[in-house]
Amino acid sequence: MTKLNALFARYFIGGIIFLLVIIILLSNYITTIFFTDFLTTVNLKSNEAIIDNIQGLLINKAPTGFYKSYLKTVANEGNAELTLYKGDIHVFSSGPETVALGPNEKMYEKVFKEDEATLYTYKFLIENEEFVLKIYRVNDIRFIKQNVEYLNRTNLMYLSVFILAVAFAIVLSLLLAKKFNQPILTIRENINYIKKGKYKNIKKTTTKARELQELSNEINLLAASKEQEENLRKRLSSDIVHELKTPITALSANLEAILDGIYKPDQERIKVLLDQTNRLARLVNGLSKLTILETNAEHMSVDKINLSTMLHDIFVTFEPSIKEKGLQSIKNIKNDIYILGNEDKLLQSFVNIISNALKYTEYGSITVSLEKTMNQAVVTITDTGIGIDEKDLPFVFERFYRSDISRSRQTGGAGIGLAITKAVIAAHDGEIAVNSVKGQGSTFITTLDLVK
Ligand code: ADP
Repeated sequence: MTKLNALFARYFIGGIIFLLVIIILLSNYITTIFFTDFLTTVNLKSNEAIIDNIQGLLINKAPTGFYKSYLKTVANEGNAELTLYKGDIHVFSSGPETVALGPNEKMYEKVFKEDEATLYTYKFLIENEEFVLKIYRVNDIRFIKQNVEYLNRTNLMYLSVFILAVAFAIVLSLLLAKKFNQPILTIRENINYIKKGKYKNIKKTTTKARELQELSNEINLLAASKEQEENLRKRLSSDIVHELKTPITALSANLEAILDGIYKPDQERIKVLLDQTNRLARLVNGLSKLTILETNAEHMSVDKINLSTMLHDIFVTFEPSIKEKGLQSIKNIKNDIYILGNEDKLLQSFVNIISNALKYTEYGSITVSLEKTMNQAVVTITDTGIGIDEKDLPFVFERFYRSDISRSRQTGGAGIGLAITKAVIAAHDGEIAVNSVKGQGSTFITTLDLVK
């Protein structure tokens, strides 16, 4: 495994070296072509100048010293070898290193090899004598001093560019790695917090890299849902203890008091014991119902049900108790809405919701509505009761959950009714949700698919 910055540096430097090599090769190639053309033109021009000068020297019958110094100058340029013949007689030869004057051509040692140089041959007449001037020009541009200097300078420039680019790549890769590293490190830290269950320590990540931002958001969402799950689990354990403890404590306290002769085992006392036993039985029954619903939903028998009639009948059953409590009962049920479901279980579910509404409402009204949308039946049960605290809302459908108010009131429920309701609706592939404002009332909305 390699660290991110090393990885970036490797790719960047690799990429830059590759690019530079290509650029250098290409520009060398292009320069060579360009130079060869340029050189030919320069050679031809300089040949013309040489011929002019030599003709001038010949016409003026210049002394040997003049030739020598002129030829030296030409030779010093280093890019030509000259040989002059008068008819067949060798007059002089000159090259970058030697100058030979006189008829003995052998005295001159050729520098350029045949295949390294291009030969230009010129003939001219002076006082009816034919002269032949042979000029060898080297083909390879590196033989020429100025060109070598130019090439060296270019190569130095390439080297500087190369060093600069590599330095730039290193700095850039460090900066980039830092940019990527920061969110990655935070994400890793967050994952560690999730592992340890320290959800409060989880930090938000902000990065411009979309994938990283999405990853971080997903992980934070996962943390939030794990935290909720954890809270639920803790709450469930404490709720279950509470629900079991209350009847068991009452039972054992009463039985001990009877044993100690404090209470008589009369009818009144036995009724208290029976009530607590029934409470425990209700709890166990509720739990077993829930387990069956959750594990056996696919074996639930279903029929076509007229939901309108069912809700109407429930409403009629509750109406007297609602009125008795001095509350207004409002019915807003659309006729002939059919769904596919288990009548007993659905009936029990709506009874749960309406009986809660009745239980937790002292003033105002209870409304039962049924409407249909394109393909769903929507049951809305609204009360103007005590409402549910915002912090309790996510838990109302959990088993054993009861708000503190409901607990202190000892309303008799075990916090299992809504858990069963939710399980029944889920078994029907429906959905249930609650909106509530503490002190103002609650609305339970259930949606079920209409029968096709
Ligand atoms: P319970 O048998 O205790 O009523 P439920 O599962 O039916 O159990 O309800 C769970 C808890 O949700 C209740 O204890 C109560 O705190 C709260 N709750 C349910 N319905 C209402 C409502 N209509 N208004 C206020 N609180 C409600």
